[in-house]
Amino acid sequence: MKPEKYLKNYINGQLVPPISGQSITLYNPAIGEVYAYAPDSTQKDVNEAVEAAEAAFPKWSKIGIKTRFRLMMRLADIIEQYLEEFAQAETTDTGKPITLSRTIDIPRSHSNLRFFATAIAHFSSEAHQMENQAINYTLRQPIGVVGCISPWNLPLYLFTWKIAPALAAGNCVVAKPSEITPMTAFLLSKACIEAGIPPGVLNIIHGYGPIAGQAIIEHPKVKAISFTGGTNTGRKIAAIAAPMFKKLSLELGGKNPNIIFADCDFEEMMATTLNSSFANQGQICLCGSRIFVEEPLYERFKAEFVKRTRMLKVGDPTSAITNLGAVVSDLHREKILSYVELAKKEGGKVLCGGEIAEVGGKNAKGYFLKPTIIEGLAHDCRTNQEEIFGPVVTIMPFKTEEEVLMYANSVEYGLSTTIWTNHISRANRMAEQIHAGVVWVNCWLLRDLRTPFGGMKSSGVGREGGLEALRFFTEAKNVCVKYM
Ligand code: NAD
Repeated sequence: MKPEKYLKNYINGQLVPPISGQSITLYNPAIGEVYAYAPDSTQKDVNEAVEAAEAAFPKWSKIGIKTRFRLMMRLADIIEQYLEEFAQAETTDTGKPITLSRTIDIPRSHSNLRFFATAIAHFSSEAHQMENQAINYTLRQPIGVVGCISPWNLPLYLFTWKIAPALAAGNCVVAKPSEITPMTAFLLSKACIEAGIPPGVLNIIHGYGPIAGQAIIEHPKVKAISFTGGTNTGRKIAAIAAPMFKKLSLELGGKNPNIIFADCDFEEMMATTLNSSFANQGQICLCGSRIFVEEPLYERFKAEFVKRTRMLKVGDPTSAITNLGAVVSDLHREKILSYVELAKKEGGKVLCGGEIAEVGGKNAKGYFLKPTIIEGLAHDCRTNQEEIFGPVVTIMPFKTEEEVLMYANSVEYGLSTTIWTNHISRANRMAEQIHAGVVWVNCWLLRDLRTPFGGMKSSGVGREGGLEALRFFTEAKNVCVKYM
């Protein structure tokens, strides 16, 4: 299960080069150098993938839950067996600390497959009886060929999060990972071959979003799209897919509030807040990037948070003691730094970080940034309204629940929120009023795969996870039978 220098598409059970013969250059963000090439696929490759998926659908959709379960579990076992190879590949591709790849990204990928392979066996549909007249029962049938498109921040984790429920429900899939981080999706192709996944059931196309990604969205035979990525991309996808009446699930950006009340468990909150601010270099859609702290706790929080952030180790992601690796690309680092400049113009004070982290040796040319804390900004300035998606957080004091609720809900996004308090009624009150699809109380990123996952407002449309994902990847058909 070794990474290769020249990645291939996975179509109809075969590893094949792109028809164009063109490739996309892949950089190792921690080294700042080219290390591999991915296919620059076009509509022609997508057409072949859709054709293969369409041909595989009749058999796969009728093969039976037990067989789908067995094959998906085998695929999960292979990923687990090669966990170290997958983890190393993920870290090389993304710049994320190897500890994260080993303990979160890859384990969650095989869990996704196991979870949905099992969940489908527990999936049921409804029956509605009309007294003395008729019985309605609902069939939940696979849709056909579906498209799954994922981003670069949690590559295999999010790729399998979509593919697993789609396959379990009996669909055939054309999937595209991010062109910035395609390596573990390529390894997944190899794992599918080893697991004996029938040809055409899963097809993996590599390429640029506006070319290969868009070709998947536009293809008339792709009936449903599950997409995770930026809000602007989601908007474009919705504009193409809506007039074609495709089923859409969009998991988009966030600008999540972390609301800290003075009565919280300080130590637990501090350790988790460091994590929710800077894990994966702040490149998790669920990171809490706006931190609101109740006034009596503000100064204590600030002093301790700055002190502990300065102690975080930025450096070689392959080292087990690294807390923050590289951000995903040079371009992305520029974007993050431009927001630090904007914050200063808006009157913000940089309490720590705000600049490139110089990491020597083999990482001298990598894309490192110091974790950054900014204070003194208004809740409605651009820095506090737009998604930065890097190791940059702002801290702001608040006096009352009403005030912080207004700040928290003032953004266009509504993905997740964390609330820190030991006051149970306040936690429930806040959770009810907050604009977010996911609310954590006294914790962060504690995920039960059975729960609905997704955002409101500009953070997305629809929910994934558990039965929601299986409902999305099936078509409901009501059958009404009259009593005679
Ligand atoms: P992106 O939107 O640039 O790209 C995501 C995927 O879409 C990539 O595979 C890309 O190639 C593809 N794509 C781009 N343009 C396309 C088009 N016109 N048609 C079809 N596909 C296209 O996002 P990104 O920069 O890779 O990821 C970061 C974003 O993802 C952030 O905004 C982050 O908040 C969001 N995200 C959201 C969640 C969530 O669950 N809500 C999870 C992770 C990341």
